[in-house]
Parts: sequence; C-alpha cells; structure tokens
Amino acid sequence: MYDRNHLLARLRAASLEREGDVFAQIPGAGPVTFGDLFSGAERMAAALVGAGVKPGDRVAVQVPKTIEAIELYLGTVMAGGIFLPLNTAYTTPEVAYFLGDATPAVVVCDPTRKGEIATIAGDATILTLDASGHGSLRELADAQPPGFTPVARRADDLAAILYTSGTTGRSKGAMLSHDNLSSNSEVLRDYWHFTADDVLIHALPIFHTHGLFVATNVALLAGCRVIFLPGFDTDAILAAMPEATALMGVPTFYTRLLADPRLDRARTANMRLFISGSAPLLVATHREWEARTGHRILERYGMTETNMTCSNPYDGERRAGTVGFPLPGVETRIMKDGREMPAGEIGVLEVRGPNVFKGYWQMPEKTAEELRPDGWFITGDLAMRDADGYYTIVGRARDLIISGGFNIYPREIESLIDDLEGVAESAVIGVPHPDFGEGVVAVVVPSDPSLTPERIMAGLEGKLASFKRPKQIILTPALPRNTMGKVQKKALRETYADLFPAT
Ligand code: AMP
Repeated sequence: MYDRNHLLARLRAASLEREGDVFAQIPGAGPVTFGDLFSGAERMAAALVGAGVKPGDRVAVQVPKTIEAIELYLGTVMAGGIFLPLNTAYTTPEVAYFLGDATPAVVVCDPTRKGEIATIAGDATILTLDASGHGSLRELADAQPPGFTPVARRADDLAAILYTSGTTGRSKGAMLSHDNLSSNSEVLRDYWHFTADDVLIHALPIFHTHGLFVATNVALLAGCRVIFLPGFDTDAILAAMPEATALMGVPTFYTRLLADPRLDRARTANMRLFISGSAPLLVATHREWEARTGHRILERYGMTETNMTCSNPYDGERRAGTVGFPLPGVETRIMKDGREMPAGEIGVLEVRGPNVFKGYWQMPEKTAEELRPDGWFITGDLAMRDADGYYTIVGRARDLIISGGFNIYPREIESLIDDLEGVAESAVIGVPHPDFGEGVVAVVVPSDPSLTPERIMAGLEGKLASFKRPKQIILTPALPRNTMGKVQKKALRETYADLFPAT
C-alpha cells in the first residue's frame, strides 16, 4: 500500500521485511523498531488528516528533536501533506513570517510556545509535541488505529518546503518534491556504501536538509540503525563510536571532538566513515583528524535548494579543502560572464539534475532569477574545479570583496592566515572603505594567546599581493556561527561596518 506514495514507498522498502529490527537506539530510552516507526507515522498521518490536512497542505513544525518528530515528518508525507520544519531557535516574530508566507493547515509546536503561536497562526490548527515526544499531537495519534493507507503522491508532488537560512533579504521557501528527496538520498546511500549493517550516529538537527534528509533518509533507504541523539554532545558521541560505523556532522562537530583527548584510534576503530558538510571543513581539521584517528573525513557539499551536489569519493582520494566530484546524475558547471570556465578558474557554480528543487514558494520572480528555464540552478557559491576534477567551494558570491576595483576571494586569504602558527581560524570580510570601496578585514581567532595582528601581518608578507592584504586584523575569541556551524559573515560585516570612516 506504500507504493501509492513515491517517497514513502522508497523510504519503507528496505525495512518492510524487518519490522522487528531496531531503527533507533536512543540513549536512556528503549529501542524503536522499524515497525514502531512506521506504525507511529501511520498514526500521525491519520491524526493529521483528522485535523483537516488535505493533499498539498503545509504542516509547519517547530519542535525539539525526537523520534516522534521523525514520525511526524513521515506521517505528513504519508498524509499527502508538505512538511515544513522550522529552526527551534526562531522567535515568534520570525515564525510569524513563515506561517504568514506558507499558510499551513496545521502548526505543531512545543507546548510552552502554544500561547504565543496561537496569536500568529491564523486559521491553522495548533498541536503540540515536546522534548519527550508528548503533547496533543501524540495523544491524537495514539488514539488512531495503525494501518493508514498512504495518500497517493507522485514523483513531482511536493514533500517539503525548507526555508533558506536567509542571510540576505527575506527567507525563501525551497519547494522539494518527492523525487528530489528520494533520488538524492538513493545516490548518497550508494555513493557512501550505506547498508543495513551500518549504525549511524544521528546528532544533527532535523529542521535542516542535512539531518532531516541526508541523515534520516539515507538511514531509512539503507534500512540501517541510527543512534539518535537530541543534539551534539561530545560525551554521547564518543560513547556511541565503539558500536557505530558512521557519523554525519558539520565541521564544528569535528573540531569539538578533536578538543577531547578521548578521541583516538581505539575509539574510532569500529567506524568506517566520517562525513562533513554544510560549511567548509578546514584543511587543518581534516589533517588533525587523520593524524588522531587514522580516518580521512569525507567532505561533501550541498544546499537546501539542491540537496547534495558534490562529494569526495568513498574509495578514491578524499582531498582536503575540496568537496570532491559531482554526484552521479548531477550536472555542474562553473560560469562567469555567461561563459563556462575551464579548470583552475573561479566562477559561480550552477547545478542541474533530479536533485534540484522546484522553485521558491510563492516567489516566481526570485525563482526566475536563480533557476534557469533549462533547469540550471545558480547556486550563488563561487567554485573552482582543479585539473583532476575536484571542486573547491571558494565562498558565497556575495562574500566576494571588491577593493580598489580588484576581486578578492576571502578564502584565499583565510587559508593563508589559518596556516600561520597560533591561529585557530579566521574569517575575511569586506567592509565599506572611503578610498577602495571595500577594505579587507581579517577577523582571527587565536589558538595561542600571545598572537598579535603584527605577527599575522608579518606571516602574510610576500605571500599576498598588496591589494589583498588585510587593512585591519581583529583578534576575537570566537566567530559568530549559526546552528549549522556556518560563519555568519553578514553579522561580521555589520559589526565592523564603521571600521574605515570617511574623513
Ligand atoms: P544550506 O542551504 O543551509 O544547507 O546552506 C548551503 C550553503 O552552505 C552552500 O550554498 C554553501 O555556501 C555552504 N556549504 C555547504 N557545504 C559546504 C562545504 N562542504 N564547503 C563549503 N561550503 C559549504
């Protein structure tokens, strides 16, 4: 009966004959079998339909990470709805924008937020789900019989809308179809060799493409087990490693784990794969990880609108500082001034394939600006392909610095600074400058407290053309990051906007 629903049929296939096998192991709680998970999802679907959800309706969800929240995702898709997860950090005024834009039929929130959400939810039905998986939605679901017949949905129907992190302007809702999600996760499962024998440490949030689609869908498609953690926790991840085989993380997972002396070869001996993405992994982190554990982290690249696009190879060389090759079935090209760039040249990365989204929800003009009629999506990321075909993400196009008429790629300067003794990491930005248009500023996190801006400048001597050299170096204890570990350059630009006042 799952066959009627494109995505569900695929997510269910690997576990159909294995109802009693464990899907999720949750520290401090009992195991959840595949049978439990899908019958829970069936009850959620019945509850949603009972609450008025019709095919194509949006179900907005801002809840803590629990297995019930995964059941809600599956249940929404099963009910023919469109799953709309929201970052748990969003405040009520922020949520108001998403609800106004997406007009969901149902909003599911933490019970503590119900009063506030009621003031902004319009006609939507409000249900609740808390950090232990309890709430009015769960009660409604528990009262339903299992065995819900999934609503028929085709490959092209929408399964989810994920709002982009919105570093500039209004956040846009990326419309993802059943096939966008299933095709990409199938490719990843095969590319990364996931099978039913794997045990994946699942510590990522599930309101973002990485934890929701890459981690959850790949595990379901492989029919493997997950050690399901509510969030990043060094102790819990280190404790899980001896019985796990794979970890998917953002770069900060890896730097935080490296900061713990318990991370070593013995602890990671059972692990076969460490995957990193959603933000650039420093070459130094890649190297340090290999030295400590003997494993080379596999870095991949993607974004909300495209799912995953590039990955380092499983068997071949995993090259630090690169995101590897385009995934099978995904086309990529690097464009500048309307021309495709050869190897070694920087341009804007464009992507085409079954992974590319259907456009921005109710924003046809924005969609037309970024998604070409022939299917190429303009990612806004600057990239370069080397002679061996490995791609490197140079940064966001909007982070490009133009100083005195010259283009300056922050990543080039950041890499040089990061390599200096006493530097933990850096972010290079352009801020308004009366003479040059923009002035280069390096914001640096020291690993050695005696580091000075003068020492950094001296370290760059002879390595950078003078126009690229930072006009100012600022030392700071930490860079501003979002929940996915991405450095917030826009916030930095705002902080240092007045560094070079007009005289
Ligand atoms: P999001 O839509 O929140 O997943 O953000 C996607 C953006 O994260 C991409 O457009 C890139 O700018 C960045 N990103 C993702 N993976 C990587 C990576 N491996 N290296 C560098 N940047 C990355």
